[in-house]
Amino acid sequence: MNKIIILLLIASLALAGCFLKEDKPKKPDSETNSVQQQEIDKLKNEIEALRGNKDSGSNKAPASVKEEVKEEAAPEAPASVKEEVKEEAVLSDLGDFKIIYGETQNPKYAGLNELIKNSSVFENIASFLNLLLKLRQDFPITFKECGFVNAYYTLEGKEIVLCDELLEDFSYNFAYFINTEDELDKAVTDATFFILFHELGHGLIDIYDLTYSGREEDVADQLSTVVLASLGEDGARAAITGANMFYITSSQIDAETYPFWDEHSLNQQRYYNILCWVYGSNPEKYGDFVGVYGLPEERAARCQREYEKMSEFWDVAIYPYLQEEIKKEMNK
Ligand SMILES: [Zn+2]
Repeated sequence: MNKIIILLLIASLALAGCFLKEDKPKKPDSETNSVQQQEIDKLKNEIEALRGNKDSGSNKAPASVKEEVKEEAAPEAPASVKEEVKEEAVLSDLGDFKIIYGETQNPKYAGLNELIKNSSVFENIASFLNLLLKLRQDFPITFKECGFVNAYYTLEGKEIVLCDELLEDFSYNFAYFINTEDELDKAVTDATFFILFHELGHGLIDIYDLTYSGREEDVADQLSTVVLASLGEDGARAAITGANMFYITSSQIDAETYPFWDEHSLNQQRYYNILCWVYGSNPEKYGDFVGVYGLPEERAARCQREYEKMSEFWDVAIYPYLQEEIKKEMNK
């Protein structure tokens, strides 16, 4: 198990029960903000020292600090210092993941958003991400009525949108297979977790300008599975619920008109991919995924390596953007 995964596990303990328990007190924003502010101040002081600029009395780092530092350092600073300044400026944490509830026309979606809000489940995930990652600007995660069934990340808004209609669609699809209200709620929440982290994959690729190979949609599925599998059994269950959702909805698409040209893998392939990766994250624990009715042996044989490689990719890719405290823990 690699170091980031261990840290994610530790972080998940801090959020223990975030998936199901609704009364878990959230870490106060002021506390998080003060740690972040200290970090900003520290980095800013280091930047100021490198620039030889002693007259800055402000405690608040301006959003344009990165551009400013790059421009001013370029003319007179030696190349090595310039690189250092750029590096420090990139590492400033100037934003937060924020859960937003958009206005809805439809009262049933307003009620749904109210339920989600009262559970604090997604606010806990945002707090977890804020403890983990630095952002150059706020990163909204918005629940809203869209007028269509979808979830997406926008390059323009740097925002994840989770449509109320998608959650309703999950509920509709899972209701065929699940009998109790509690189980249905859990399945809808779990599938939403998978989609949220999938969209986060698109978001991180964009905001950190990450280089990847293959189809971005697969890479986003990989991030979602890596994060969820690292959060223990609750997370693994959420990933598998996401996989099941792809399997269930695959039967709704006519094989004759299947969009083979699409940027996404086929739903059935996404199902087997996720199954393979969760199994690969801990073959001993998830050994019963393999068999006639689950993951074929032919695929299972290489799932552990597949998982390790994609997990390593994400470790390396996001390392520069981890909070300093997390880096220190990793380097101990
Ligand atoms: Zn996607």
